[in-house]
Formats: sequence, C-alpha cells, structure tokens
Amino acid sequence: MYRDHNNSELNIESLNKKVILSGWVQKIRDKGFIIWVDLRDRYGLTQLVFDTDRTSKDIMEKARELGREFVIQVEGTVIERESKNKSIPTGDIEVLVEKLIILNISETPPFTIEDETDGGEDLRMKYRYLDIRRNPVKNKLIFRSKVSMAVRNYLSQKDFIEVETPYLIKSTPEGARDFVVPSRMNAGQFYALPQSPQTFKQLLMVGGLDKYFQIVKCFRDEDLRADRQPEFTQIDCEMTFVEQEDILNTFEGLTKHLLKEINGVEVKSFPRMTYDEAMQTYGNDKPDIRFGMKFGELNGVAQHKDFKVFNEAELVVGIAIPGGASYSRKDIDKLIEWMKRPQVGAKGMVYVKYNEDGSLKSSVDKFYDESDLKAWAEKTGAQPGDLICVLSGKANTTRGQLSALRMEMGNRLGLRKPEEFAPLWVVDFPLLEWDEATQRYHAMHHPFTSPKEGQFELLATDPGAVKANAYDLVLNGNEIGGGSIRIHDQKTQSMMFDYLGFTKEEAEAQFGFLMKAFTYGAPPHGGIAFGLDRLVAILGGQESIRDFIAFPKNNSGRDIMIDAPAELSADQLKELHIKKLS
Ligand code: ASP
Repeated sequence: MYRDHNNSELNIESLNKKVILSGWVQKIRDKGFIIWVDLRDRYGLTQLVFDTDRTSKDIMEKARELGREFVIQVEGTVIERESKNKSIPTGDIEVLVEKLIILNISETPPFTIEDETDGGEDLRMKYRYLDIRRNPVKNKLIFRSKVSMAVRNYLSQKDFIEVETPYLIKSTPEGARDFVVPSRMNAGQFYALPQSPQTFKQLLMVGGLDKYFQIVKCFRDEDLRADRQPEFTQIDCEMTFVEQEDILNTFEGLTKHLLKEINGVEVKSFPRMTYDEAMQTYGNDKPDIRFGMKFGELNGVAQHKDFKVFNEAELVVGIAIPGGASYSRKDIDKLIEWMKRPQVGAKGMVYVKYNEDGSLKSSVDKFYDESDLKAWAEKTGAQPGDLICVLSGKANTTRGQLSALRMEMGNRLGLRKPEEFAPLWVVDFPLLEWDEATQRYHAMHHPFTSPKEGQFELLATDPGAVKANAYDLVLNGNEIGGGSIRIHDQKTQSMMFDYLGFTKEEAEAQFGFLMKAFTYGAPPHGGIAFGLDRLVAILGGQESIRDFIAFPKNNSGRDIMIDAPAELSADQLKELHIKKLS
C-alpha cells in the first residue's frame, strides 16, 4: 500500500496515529539537526519532520539525498507542530518519519512548483505536466471537471442522451477553414475534422433520438486571436419537436443550474433582446449588461448644423462616461489616441464635458451651443459630471468602435465585476451577412438555420432584412452559446443552398446525405452549442481560457511541449500520396 491518507487529511484529531503517505517533495528545510520536508499530492501538503534525536541515522542520511520533486513514500507518527500554519488543513501537525522510501528521483524542475512560480508562459507550457502540479492550474482543471459533470447530470436528467459523432468527416460549413487529414487508403482524398457535429446531430434527430448532447472537440483552422484555440470543446445539443422558445427555456435551465451549482448564484429569468436592439443599444451582439453606458443615437439632434463630418455620416452615436467630466485634456487626448489605434480604428472623437455645475463644453463648440449639447446629454442619458463621447461614420463600423470604448471604460471603471453574472438571450439574428471580400451573402449562423416564418420570400427582394430563428446566449459580454431552429424539409434546404450560391452539383456533393435524409420524414428540430472552455473560464471568474485546458496550444497554434505540428518523413508522405511543394 502506497498510502493510507492523502496529504490534506491529517489534523489534530490524528495525533499519535501511525500513517503511510506518498507524494512529491515540494520544499526541504535542512537545519542540520532537523529537516522539514513539505510533501505534496493533488489534495494538499503535509509537513514531514526528521530530527537527529528521534530519527535513525540511516533515515536522516537518506533524507539528505532528497531533492525537489522526488517521489517518496514515508511511514511515521502524527505529532503536534510547534509553530502551526493556519492556512492549510494539516497545519497543526507534522509526521515524524520512521521509514522513507524514494520511489523516484527528479531532475531539478525548470521553475518552482508552487502557487506563485518563477516560470514564464513558454517554459510552463513546455513542461505543462509540471505546471499541472501547481494549484492554480490543477484547481482550474478540477473546476472544469465539475462543470462538465454538472452539465452531464442536468442534461441526462432531462432525458438527453450523449452520443459520440465521428471526427473523420467531410467539411462542415461553419464558416471557418477545415483542418484536413489525408486518407492513405483513398489516394488523393481527405477527411476534414469537424468544425462542429452540426450535420450529424441533425441526422440523429432524423434517427429519432429526440434529445442529444455531447461534450465534444471541434476544430477550426482560423487565425488565432488572443485566447482562441484551434481545437476547442463544445457542449453540443439538439432536440426534436421544438420551437425556439422550447430551446431557450431548456438551456436557460441548464445555465441557471450551472450558476447555482458551481457559483451558488441564483439568476431569475434571462432577459431577451433582439439582435437589432443589441446593436443599437450596445453596438455589439454580445452586450455586457452588467453596466449601463447605453448608446444614444444623435442623428436627429446633431445633423442640423454646419458640422460636415456629422452631416455626412450614416450614424452619429454617443455614450456617457460616468465621472468623465473631470478628465484632464491630457486624459482625453490619450483616450482619443486609444480609439485611433488600428485595433479600434476610429478617425477621431468628439466629446462633451457635462460639468457638475450643469454647464456643457464640447470639442465642437464652434458648431453646437449648450441647448444642442443638452439634447445630446438627454439622448445618451448623461448626468452632470459625465463625459459624452461621440463617434460618427458608417453605422456598423461606428457602433463597433463605440462598443470597444464602452467595454474599455467598463473595465477601467471596474464595472465588469467578475462575481456578478448577467446572462441574456440575443434573438432574431439576421439570416444572412454581407461579405465584403467575396461580395455576396453568407449564412450568418450556418446554412441549416431556418428563416423566421413567412420571411423566405424576402430572400429574393431584401435578403439582408430576413431574420432567422437563431439565438445566442450571452454572459458578461461573451457569447457562450449559439444555435438555431433548423430547416427540416428538403425543398427549403435545397433552395437555401441555391440562394447561398451553391450549384446543384456542389450542394449535392457536399450535403446530398443531409438532403436525402430530409426526404425520409425529418422531424422539426433545433439546437444549440455552448463553448465549454469559455463558459468554464467565465464561471471561474477568469479572462483567459488557457489554464482551463490541460494541454493548450500557443498563439501560433503550436503545442510546444510535444512540438507539433511537425514534418512527416518522406515515407509517410509517400504512403499518404502527398508531394511537398517546397
Ligand atoms: N453548430 C453550431 C455552432 O457550432 C451550433 C448550433 O447551431 O447548434 O456554432
């Protein structure tokens, strides 16, 4: 037997017990006549003590051979500590060692394996297995497991069944590039790794499984923005004989359950907001509603004077920054510089100081008098003491830029409190999205999403106006889930592919299997997928998803521990019928 207790179990109640413990040597303090060793395992730390009065010479000598991260087993007696450590459960006791076995030696680790480490990000990733020994990483993995368990418990209680779908498939059009896998047995042909199990879960509904879920890896070959991973995990779900309302209620239930189980937070019903309203009020389809600073559209009150910039703009829009009237000229210049960085891309920013005494002073006083500015204050909900920031230009871009400012100020002013949870549903997304690069419409969610009832005909006349039965679940400014009610008849699906610019042959080659399935009594169905990595990070009150993933990739998509991706040998390439270009 390697152990009869773990390293967090022993306490004052255990005094005089004979125990066996195993673990890693975290720290050694050798005072000559007495040696203390902190013994660590997943559960905690136990202090071991060796001293010349009570420990045999052999064991004393052996103890002096120990190094950090050696794996040892000890037998000994629990005794009371002289100086107690109140911050750990075993802090009142120590174990006087009577037998010591070195189970394995260790090289000196490249960074300290303690809560605070001296290891940089790259080093920690290269030796991730050592990093995982540290509490901050280990605890996040345990937290993730707790969330996954809570998801599984809740959904299986609601009659969902977990079904695995294949990883070696054909391209799924979720809008990103596929990772592909060459087939050795089928020369010149490739599998694609799923961007999501979308078509398979729909086929499971055609198969009559009624309620499906899966905690599943998805793969998208996208340029990696900060905190995106090329492989990530979804809680993927689908239901039969449901309307949008059924899905929203079911998954609102799941989210409430998680907030309660994991965070002890009770959230009443989730507000619902249309996509249009979210864009108009927050400039963002995933608004953080933990704080105000709502957009005020100013076209009506700002486009009647000689200020050309505003008059020629599609949209003039502002927000009020609480307390901002006291910013110095330098502070405001810095804020404008921040807005002009390429990441935000504003050309400039007009501002109005709404002073505590009720007077208003703007950077465009030449064009607007106090009564004009008063109207701006009303529209943006500004109070005396606030700074009104106004942008203008193309509606979508301008909204995006002002939303960036709103989020930044929310952060700077401490309004995005991690312990607060503000979920909402954003509904009625547009069915299609105009793509400047290809000069055509694409499905905003995916091509299996159904248009709102009675809107299919609009596709011919005003495609951009068609709304979809598509919804996102937003939590604290992050999209944590998204889905739709699907098209379930072959004719509509085929028309949709037509509409999206697939030729009959392309649609048949790519999605023939789905349209065929739709001819055999496909039931109405719909679903949703949650991004598990992000969800776990938010529930854990963290910005970064990395430490919630055991073995994450870096920003260039590399696993620097195993050094992947890597070249293949000439033989392997040949077997796969692949010739390198360079
Ligand atoms: N497959 C979709 C996605 O990955 C989710 C869904 O429509 O259920 O975004």
